[in-house]
Amino acid sequence: MEWMIWLDFSMFLVLLGLFFYVFATSTVTVLHRIYLSLHIVFMSWTFSQFVSQTVSSTAFKLFYLSVSYIGLSLLGIGWFAFILFLTGQSYVIRKSRLFILAIPALISVAAVVINPNGMFLSINVRLSPLKQLQHGSLYWIMIVQLILYMVISFTIMFYKLRGEKSSRQRTLIKTAIVGMFVLVSFAIADLIINVVFIEAMNRYVPLISVGMVLAAVYLVHAIRRNKVLDIIQTVQRDVMNTMSMGIIVLDENDIILEVNKVIKPILRLRIGDKFNPALLGPQFKGEASREFTAFIEEQRKRPMDRLEIEIAISYDKYRHVIVQSAPILYNKKTPVGRLLTFQDVTELRLLVEETNDQNEQLQDRNRDLLIMQDELFQANKKLEHMAITDGLTGCFNRRYLLHQLEQEVVANIRYGIPFSIFLFDLDHFKSINDKYGHLIGDEVLCGTVDAVRGSLRFTDILARYGGEEFTVYLPHTNREQADQIAERLMESVEQNKINMGNGEMPISVTISMGVISIDHFEPSDLDDPKAFLRELLAQADAALYEAKFNGRNRIVKRKLA
Ligand code: GH3
Ligand code: MG
Ligand code: MG
Repeated sequence: MEWMIWLDFSMFLVLLGLFFYVFATSTVTVLHRIYLSLHIVFMSWTFSQFVSQTVSSTAFKLFYLSVSYIGLSLLGIGWFAFILFLTGQSYVIRKSRLFILAIPALISVAAVVINPNGMFLSINVRLSPLKQLQHGSLYWIMIVQLILYMVISFTIMFYKLRGEKSSRQRTLIKTAIVGMFVLVSFAIADLIINVVFIEAMNRYVPLISVGMVLAAVYLVHAIRRNKVLDIIQTVQRDVMNTMSMGIIVLDENDIILEVNKVIKPILRLRIGDKFNPALLGPQFKGEASREFTAFIEEQRKRPMDRLEIEIAISYDKYRHVIVQSAPILYNKKTPVGRLLTFQDVTELRLLVEETNDQNEQLQDRNRDLLIMQDELFQANKKLEHMAITDGLTGCFNRRYLLHQLEQEVVANIRYGIPFSIFLFDLDHFKSINDKYGHLIGDEVLCGTVDAVRGSLRFTDILARYGGEEFTVYLPHTNREQADQIAERLMESVEQNKINMGNGEMPISVTISMGVISIDHFEPSDLDDPKAFLRELLAQADAALYEAKFNGRNRIVKRKLA
């Protein structure tokens, strides 16, 4: 039943295959995989060498030795690949190129497997035990390809070491050089002692095995100390732990796979436990707990969706937390777990609220300011009005009239526009004051002004010149028009009955008026506009005086000389 032995061996091969499969498909780094392949080679060499010496059958002995030589044949290419990845030149090994690079190793493996006429290895039972193992010419193919890979590996490492600046990379390369140096030294020693000096030594010394173990121990130690191989994972964990965001990784059955540092003090979660949203600790109580449980329920119904919720929890103080739940997809389509993230947005919330408050306050203040601005505008308007009007009669004051005249007269003269000026004074006003009192006098003044206003045009400017003396400026008004208006004005004043009250008869007053009209112009008029205006008003005054002198209640017209 010799084939039963092969069943065992086949099972061993299946297990070995599974071992490789697991490593090739799990999330270890490529460098890990290559190192482990090297490790298998080391193990297969030492184990097969040992087994070959425990069997007596020549065929089996030959078989186990062949297995060990297959392993040894792959040592060079294995180490070479390790070096390429270690020194960051993995781009050399694309799948297409890997085959070409592996050709010498594969030839060597073929030589071991085929072993034509024992040209790689043969056992001569007739010789003494030490000499039984005969290496043929093909054996040297293995030696040469091993030397070739080693030389290339050493060259790459030294070349890389010269140009490398990163101290971490330098340490890595130095580690690999020392490991390889140990291994090669032992291999050479093995070759010299067990092949060349076998008779002198008179015993077999398994030096390569010792070298392999030493190299492996050294590499593992160096790897552990420098964290060479799991640097990516270390970085990933560091990144996760330095994040201010809480992270929980769940598998498809809601088993907790990973919890980062932020989450640990807040939620009492243990890796390996089933994630239960209803039992998260004291801060997820009441409303927050209900909302969160509903959120997780929703997420279970929609495993492919990315969900988000904002909840308020009380952990040391009141906090707003945004929880996101995102599927972890395998091959971008099959959900294999969930990533839950917790982000504290309290500060942001407070900031937003504070900004809103401030905004509201600003708006209030703005409204107040607008009201104040409006009030100021109204007050200003009133002031402006007061500055140019006479308080008693409501017509313009002297200051406004003079200011207006200064500008208008210049323009009128420049463009030859005719204009007129009236100056009138109430007749015997003093006696009204004396007879009826000052208040009635005021009313007579106002009533007269109303009557005058009624017979003026909208564009004429009526101003109180002082006391009971008034001026009218009539723009665009020639002598004829001015005379007509003056007559009309006199008449309306005279007909204007002013009620005295207290059963007294209503009275009427008369006025005396000087009228000045400017129809044609001399160029010299513009030389000194102020003097011209003064002259104009003096002429009006003189005309008024003349009207008074001639008996009052009349108009005296003056033409400017
Ligand atoms: P005449 O016909 O010559 O003008 O005689 P009159 O009495 O009007 O004389 P005059 O113009 O010299 O006198 C003006 C008077 O008008 C003197 C003053 O008491 C009075 N008066 C001046 N301003 C006011 C005022 O604002 N209110 C009142 N009630 N009287 C005023
Ligand atoms: Mg008067
Ligand atoms: Mg007067």
